[in-house]
Amino acid sequence: MAPQVLRLDWFYLHVYPLIQMWSPGAVWALLIGISGVIIIAPWSPPAKELRPAVVDLENCNGCKRCVDDCPFGAVEMVPRTDGTSYAQQASVNSDLCVSCGLCVGACPTATPFRSRSALIPGIDLPDRSAADIRQDIVEHAEPVSANPRVLVFGCEDDREAARLRRAGANVITVMCMGHLQPSNFDFVLSRNHADGILLLGCQDGNCNYRLGAEWTEQRIARERDPRLRKRTDTTKIALAWQAPWSDHRDPVAMYEAFRATLRDRLAEGEAVTS
Ligand code: SF4
Ligand code: SF4
Repeated sequence: MAPQVLRLDWFYLHVYPLIQMWSPGAVWALLIGISGVIIIAPWSPPAKELRPAVVDLENCNGCKRCVDDCPFGAVEMVPRTDGTSYAQQASVNSDLCVSCGLCVGACPTATPFRSRSALIPGIDLPDRSAADIRQDIVEHAEPVSANPRVLVFGCEDDREAARLRRAGANVITVMCMGHLQPSNFDFVLSRNHADGILLLGCQDGNCNYRLGAEWTEQRIARERDPRLRKRTDTTKIALAWQAPWSDHRDPVAMYEAFRATLRDRLAEGEAVTS
């Protein structure tokens, strides 16, 4: 018996306009190509993974802050193996480490003020080291004539950070805002590398690494170690915490508003360097 009703399969509807525009052979070639990509996807090589955090015993004093701040339980304290007077040392479980850098942000030895030319903290990310970040800060310093000079820190792969960079902002990316040891902010302002700092991070509950925004807020508020130094003017540090993918998120507007605030302060003759 001939079918009385022919139901449309909505899933395939997107191909119909192409049938009108292309030859049948071209449409089949496209569909076979897409199917082939989907079929071989499980066997395609994985995206390049960042290497896990590494401990440098020479610089680890056994303070345990990295253990307290790692959101993934990837660091533990173990008995010291190098014969120094410290009882314990940090040890990273590379199977659990997601290379977020929050442990580096917690480590007191990850300060950019260290005079050693090679900045090697007690714990660090081999693919985005504390020394790399310090070098980026120095290299991104704008001439004093750029008024006001705002340095933006954004999360790696954050489309908003990329958008701000395209808009002409001075952007440095790190794994997460919690990757930044707070002395980096002191370093930027006290060494006059910028007049203000904008942190472009994710709102509570949206941090890819769970606690990056929370730890950053607490460190800047001097409620959590390592605390921001008291001499650092926190009004020159703007936290732009927004939910990623939010339609209301407009990093360019936030950036311009912060610049305007700084510009007003400079015009009022307020000292912008500490
Ligand atoms: S925070 Fe740094 S110094 Fe402290 S235990 Fe961890 S690696 Fe060692
Ligand atoms: S990089 Fe992240 S996951 Fe790995 S040890 Fe440090 S805080 Fe934990």
